[in-house]
This record gives sequence, C-alpha cells and structure tokens, in this order.
Amino acid sequence: MSTIRFAALQETLNRKALKVEENEKRSVLFGKNVFNKHAMQQYLTRSAYESVMNAIEKGTKIDRKIADQVAVSMKDWSISRGATHYTHWFQPLTGATAEKHDAFFESINGSLAMEKFDGEQLVQQEPDASSFPNGGIRNTFEARGYTAWDPTSPAFIYETTLCIPTIFVAYTGEALDNKTPLLRALQAVDTHATAVCKYFDKNASKVNATLGWEQEYFLIDDALALSRPDILLTGRTLLGHLSAKGQQLDDHYFGSIPARAMSFMQDLEQECMLLGIPLKTRHNEVAPNQFEVAPIFEEANLAVDHNSLLMDVMEKVSRRHKFKVLFHEKPFAGINGSGKHNNWSLSNADETNLLSPGKTPMKNLQFLTFFVNTIKAVHEYEELLRASIASASNDYRLGVNEAPPPIISVFIGSQLSGVLDDLENVTKGKLSPEEKTDLKLNIIGKIPEILLDNTDRNRTSAFAFTGNKFEFRAVGAQSNCATPMTILNTIIAKQLKDFKIEVDALIENKNLKKDEAIFNILREYIKASKKIRFEGDGYGDAWEKEAKKRSLSNHKNTPEALKVKVSKKAVSLFEEMEVMSKVELEARYEIDLEEYTKRLQIESRVLADIAKNHVVPTAIIYQNTLLENTKNLKEIFGDDHKVIAKEQIELIMTISNHITEINALTIKMTNERRKANKFNGLKSAEVYCNKVKPFFEQIRYHCDKLETMVDDNLWPLTKYRELLFTR
Ligand code: ADP
Ligand code: MG
Repeated sequence: MSTIRFAALQETLNRKALKVEENEKRSVLFGKNVFNKHAMQQYLTRSAYESVMNAIEKGTKIDRKIADQVAVSMKDWSISRGATHYTHWFQPLTGATAEKHDAFFESINGSLAMEKFDGEQLVQQEPDASSFPNGGIRNTFEARGYTAWDPTSPAFIYETTLCIPTIFVAYTGEALDNKTPLLRALQAVDTHATAVCKYFDKNASKVNATLGWEQEYFLIDDALALSRPDILLTGRTLLGHLSAKGQQLDDHYFGSIPARAMSFMQDLEQECMLLGIPLKTRHNEVAPNQFEVAPIFEEANLAVDHNSLLMDVMEKVSRRHKFKVLFHEKPFAGINGSGKHNNWSLSNADETNLLSPGKTPMKNLQFLTFFVNTIKAVHEYEELLRASIASASNDYRLGVNEAPPPIISVFIGSQLSGVLDDLENVTKGKLSPEEKTDLKLNIIGKIPEILLDNTDRNRTSAFAFTGNKFEFRAVGAQSNCATPMTILNTIIAKQLKDFKIEVDALIENKNLKKDEAIFNILREYIKASKKIRFEGDGYGDAWEKEAKKRSLSNHKNTPEALKVKVSKKAVSLFEEMEVMSKVELEARYEIDLEEYTKRLQIESRVLADIAKNHVVPTAIIYQNTLLENTKNLKEIFGDDHKVIAKEQIELIMTISNHITEINALTIKMTNERRKANKFNGLKSAEVYCNKVKPFFEQIRYHCDKLETMVDDNLWPLTKYRELLFTR
C-alpha cells in the first residue's frame, strides 16, 4: 500500500468514537438556543410579543419602535446565553447560507464600551452584496442589496452568534436569495388554498404548506477523504475501481449504526435540539457508510431554514468527529447516491392535514379536492417540477440505481386509483338524490381514514402519495429545498386559483350546488390529468417508452431541464402568482447555468490533474518495474524470457495502451473545454454537457483499469473499499 494511503488508513483505524456526554434530556434541550414563543414571552413586553405573533401569523408589519424593543430583548436573551456577536443569516443564490458576524460590542468615546443592538440593526443590514451571484440584476458598481428580518423564522444562537434569518433583496426590489420567492409562494398557496377551504369551512383563515425532508449523506473518514483530491474539490469520486463488495448483500440498510457514526449522530442531534431542529429518525441507508436523518415535519419556510442549518451543523460536527460528510448526490459510482425526499402537505389553521382523509364525507371531499388538484398541478407543470431539481450533481443520480428517473409522474396506490376511477363516472351537471347518496356512501365514503398501506408504496416514483402527504423524491441531497418548494407551492396555488374560478362559475351559471360543482370539476381534472399517473416500475426502459407515448417530458440533463424555468408558460405562472418576475427568473436561470458550467469545469480539471499527475506517473513507475524484471529475466534466461516473462510483457503493453488512451482523451477533453469556455450561458453549459462530460467516463474507465493492474503498494489514491468500509 502506498505511504499516503497507509498513513491515512492508520490514522483512521486508530480513531475511537468520540464520547458524547448526554447531560440533559432531549426535550429539555429542545429549542434552548432559539428565540421562540417561549423565550419571547419571557423577554418581550406584551404588545411587542403580540406584534411579532401578528407578523408571523398574519404577515403584518412590525413598526420601528416595536422592532427596537424586540432587538433589545433579543440581545439580552442571547447575551444571557453566551452570544457575543450577531449576524443576518440568509440564503444567497449559491444555495448555501451566508453570514457576516458583527459584535454587539460598541465603544463610546473610545474609552467606555457597551453592548448595543437596536431595531435598525435587527430589521435591515447591507452586506457587501457584490460577491454574491445576482444574474445581472445588479451591476457590480451598484452593488446595493440588503437583508431584511424574516420574523416567521425565529432567531437562534449558533456557537456564540445570534443568527437572524433574513431575506436578501436588491434595492430595486428583486429577490437575490432563495427565501424571498419561497415566502411569496407560501403566501400564494395560503391565499388560494384558504379560499378553497372556505367551501368546506366558512371560517377557514389560513393554510400552511408543511415540509418534512429526509436528508441522506455519506460519512467518510476525513483522513481518507483528504487523500482524494476529487472528493476534496468536487465532493465526489471522479475515478476509483468498484469495490469487490459494495451494497449487493443489502447488509447496511437499517443495520446497526457503526460506533463512530453513532457518536457523530448523537452529537449532531444534541446540537440540533438546541437549535430547535426536531430531528426524529436516524438510520443506515442502503450503501455502505451512507446514512439518513429526518425531522418531524414543520411549516415549510421553517423546515427549509432548518435543512440549510442542519447541513451547516453537520459539516461542523463532522469535523469534530474527524469525518467528512458528503452531500453530493452521487459520490461513488456503482452504489446508491443520496437524495433529499421532500414530504409535502398542506394544513389549515387548526393543523388539520388537508391531504389526510377524514371521518365525514365533507372532510373526504375536502381531501379529494386537494388531492386531485395536486395531481392536476403536477400534470400541468411536470416540466417545471423537473427543472426545480436540476443540478450538475443530481444529473449523476437521477435515473441511476435507486433514484427516480427524470420523468415526473405521480403514484397514488391502488386504493385511491380506484376512487378516482369511480369519480370519473359521476354524471355531468346536476346529480340526482340517489347519485348523491351513492357518492357519499360508496365513493367518498369508501376512502379509509388511514391510507398508510406500506405494501402499496412505490419507491420508483418521483412524486408519490404516501397516505397523508406527497413525497417528492427526486430532490437532490445537496440542494436547497427552497427551489423545489417554491415551485411546488406556486403550481399548487395556481391550480387552486383556477379550480375556485371554475367551481364558482358552475355554481353561478349552471345553478349547481357547491358539492355538485366540485364533483363536476374534479371529474374533469381526473380525466385531464390521467397521463401523469403511473403505478408501475419507474426504473425500467419500458416506462421511458410509455412516458414518451404519453408525451411526458424526459429531460436527461440540467441545461435541457432548466430552459423550462424561463419559458413563456413559467414566466406567466410566476408573474400571475406574484412569486417571481421575469427579471428574477432570468437572473436565476443565468446563475443556474453558470453554476452548472463551473461545476463541470472544475470536475474536468480535477480529473485531468489526477489522471496526469497521479495515475499515469504511478502506472509508469510500475511499468518500469515490469521492464526491469523482464530485462533481468532476459539476462538470465536469454531468449526463453519471452515465454517466462510473457505475462509481464503483455502487461507492459496493456499499461502502455491505457496510458496512451488517457493522454489522448485528456487532450481532447481539454480542447473541448477550451471551446466551451469561449461561450457563455446556455451554449457553454450545453457544450460542457454534451462535449466535455462524456470524456469523464472514458478517462475514468482507463484509470480504473490501471488501478486493477498496478501494484497496490504504489497506488496513491485511497480505494473504494477503503473509503466505504473503513470505520
Ligand atoms: P418514510 O417511510 O418515507 O420514511 P414517514 O411516514 O415516516 O415515511 O415520514 C417521512 C417523513 O414525512 C418525515 O420526515 C415526516 O416528517 C414527514 N411527514 C409526515 N407527515 C407530514 C406532513 N403532513 N407534511 C409534511 N411532511 C410530513
Ligand atoms: Mg421517504
């Protein structure tokens, strides 16, 4: 084994699980570092508290005087918990989170000092915005953007900093972050879903979208990860021969969690409890060293913030435990990649889940209304949903092994398929009393209160109904949930708006009763959206063919998928729902393309470096050993060496061939890259996708072959079996 690998492995094997003290019950720790309702009640005056609660629940403005009060209380509370700094915490379009810490400390006249934090500092800040991506919204010389407090997501203390969740917008009003459009989408879905809820409950006042994400990740020892330039720079392995044992024995999933990983998880859970992230489950995933963590679901804005925060915390905690956490969607070839299932639903003010069947026919009609409208929305905007999860890294996962294909379809299970089939046959127009009774008793009455039938689950569907929520499974592990959640909630809002208009029209113009009108429209929707429903195996070629027949989209790569985000249909949707303007959409499109291009550019460079600087030189050293050996054999055995050293001679030739191929392919790839770099925007992304990227697999093939030939003692790159099975 090479000295580099040996040292890394030695280090890894010597590591013991870090002991994590659990000094308090989880329930006691929960939310201790969050300026939540409980803390606010303690620290705020009654009027300030009410003002903040109104802002959270009704979206009202908080005036400056109250903001000053809140700021002072927040400061006192956070200093009492050890904070020394504060920051506006936001999510720029890089997909990560950003923060700039300022101390509470301020000096007065150069000698006196005091802790200061007022309403102005709470409400608005002006970070130097020029270095965040803005897609041309701001010229750099006019780099003015500001962050503004989002009271719907509570402030929290991380380490010694008070973090205030904020939106990030340009002075001209355009959103420069992921949160602003999300909040607007949640507002839209609230408005239109509440209007629909009023059919069933006159007092309906509010609808929240809920999100429960499931975060998959890999944990790799950091000494091993450090020995791999590809993991370090791209988050995934660009080469590496498959390990003889991978996941074929299925012995990792739900197995006992290795000790070091377990202690990492305990530590992580404690940190998350303090931050109010309600983590609930942890388990091994299918691939070796792959795990999953999931919280109890929350209101979508909070859940999105919590997922971003979780990823930050995981990075920090993993360092303590000498792990590198990999969020990449496909860090290893040949075994499962990582996703982030987004479980989504809608709930009303009293927290009734609108996608959960109820006890009464009326409740079930409400359930069916939201259920069918969701299917219809996905049917109308499947391409946009596909675009919402497009990224360079997710391209490596979608449609491979365990992940849903890039074709969006909806799975609902046999029970509900039956119900929809029955509803399709409801008479058009007015219903006879008999028919109404039949509907109530036999169709909507037949929907069982609990639909959580595990045998009925289809793991291959991109968008599946799982009893009381939809699960969007195609979301990538490292993506920010804000984008898919913005798009999903926007299309639902639009669909519900149209539904209301259509139902009202039937009531007014055709003189139908409310439930007759609803049945009529639902029937039409069920018919119209049939092609999006698919109950079969989503992984096989058969589905691809079938999907094509149904004229469903199948955008296999990001540049192709992203175009839809700026299509006429998308622009008019987002403008109508007041979620994003054309300028904002185009800016995001530009940023997404640029990010795609840069990621592939980096991968291409790293791969070329590793091939040229690690693989080829190592192969040459080994080849020289073989040559030396052959020469020596010739010296002793004369012409007989041709027989005796036959294997060596063949190996020398094979190695030469692979080296030649690697060199030639690397040069070709570099040339294509140069061409791609002359373009920008879509064109550049397309050239990277279609001309540069295909070389990755080809170069890798030859490198991986060499890995199987070259003396293990010489091979410098930590191997798959070591990365995946060392604990
Ligand atoms: P699985 O079999 O997919 O692991 P579970 O039923 O245990 O499924 O739930 C998975 C996730 O769904 C959890 O993260 C949970 O928080 C989330 N979830 C449950 N109910 C809802 C809901 N009403 N809205 C959003 N997410 C939900
Ligand atoms: Mg799941």
